[in-house]
Amino acid sequence: MSSVTLTNVGLTYPDGTVGLDGIDLAIADGEFVALVGPSGSGKTTLLRAIAGFLRPTAGSIHLGEALVADGSTLVAPEKRELGMVFQQHAVWPHWSVERNVAYPLRLAGVAKAERQARVAEVMALVGLEGFEKRNPATLSGGQRQRVALARAIVGRPRVLLLDEALSALDEPLRDSLRLELQTLTRSIGLTVVHVTHDRDEALALADRVVVLDGGRIQQVGTPPELVSTPASPAVATFLSDATVFTGVLHAGVFSASGHGCRVGVDDLELGGAGEGDGSIAVLPEDVTLTPGTGATVTSSLYGRGSNDVVVDWNGIAVRCRVPGRRPLVGEAVDVRVERAMFYPRAAAAQPVGTPA
Ligand code: ADP
Ligand code: MG
Repeated sequence: MSSVTLTNVGLTYPDGTVGLDGIDLAIADGEFVALVGPSGSGKTTLLRAIAGFLRPTAGSIHLGEALVADGSTLVAPEKRELGMVFQQHAVWPHWSVERNVAYPLRLAGVAKAERQARVAEVMALVGLEGFEKRNPATLSGGQRQRVALARAIVGRPRVLLLDEALSALDEPLRDSLRLELQTLTRSIGLTVVHVTHDRDEALALADRVVVLDGGRIQQVGTPPELVSTPASPAVATFLSDATVFTGVLHAGVFSASGHGCRVGVDDLELGGAGEGDGSIAVLPEDVTLTPGTGATVTSSLYGRGSNDVVVDWNGIAVRCRVPGRRPLVGEAVDVRVERAMFYPRAAAAQPVGTPA
């Protein structure tokens, strides 16, 4: 087990594409960290840099106390003692499950008796007892992914790196493997870096979530922190389907430019700080709809506990989470914003006066 420390890591590909830019991140020993972000945001690049398949062009990476990459040092992937699982489970089709799982131990020259004991142990951990002699071609996608997971942890890695490891699986299998992944990694105290484009998976599993965009860290925090206090409108939209209004905050009222929407910030407990141009982000659960005439329901999807509703409010598509009866498309309603975060345009990406 090991911590992972990235210090000002940059990675520019030979063609000039910036993969990573100024990444500072300290992952604690035993922590489960999820990396999320849109496609092309640098998630795989970051994971491959930790694994040693890519050399950072700036900064340094430490595993525990050991420097593994900087301008003059590059420790090879096989020397980093990491486990990896990708979306495309790379199990060898002509080998039995057992032989696949034992491969890293053979490579490391572990003696046969010990090898057999360790393989039996991880097969039990991932719930594959009885499948030892099977050919991977006879397994389901979920079972093959468990083989890949077993092989990744059999060598007792310092860190487990997962790149969209569950993304190719269908529900409800993905759900159950999520639970098993959490139980398994927490029971043996593994340090995990889990890359996913699925924000709900990231929020559900991780101790801390790292939001990447354009190769830069947008925010790092616990799931409740990211959901309740997004550092920027972009994070609020990406993680929580927030509606972002741009406009002007003046004398306690936010007016959306080009639209007739006025949001009374006195009611929103925004603290009165940061007057002027900027944006507000409103989470779907912080919008209330009442019978009225101010807005029109444009879509209304049933959800367990609450419905996902979009209303057209003076030309702005406002996303709402509405408990109880599902509103009808075309229904006329009034919109009330219960809580919002104001982001001054010029300031750094920090919400101002976030309500308690
Ligand atoms: P993600 O995993 O978040 O989808 P990636 O880390 O794969 O994103 O990619 C980050 C950026 O680096 C993207 O702009 C992508 O096009 C670029 N990129 C990835 N691999 C290469 C490569 N081998 N050469 C040049 N650019 C690359
Ligand atoms: Mg990727």
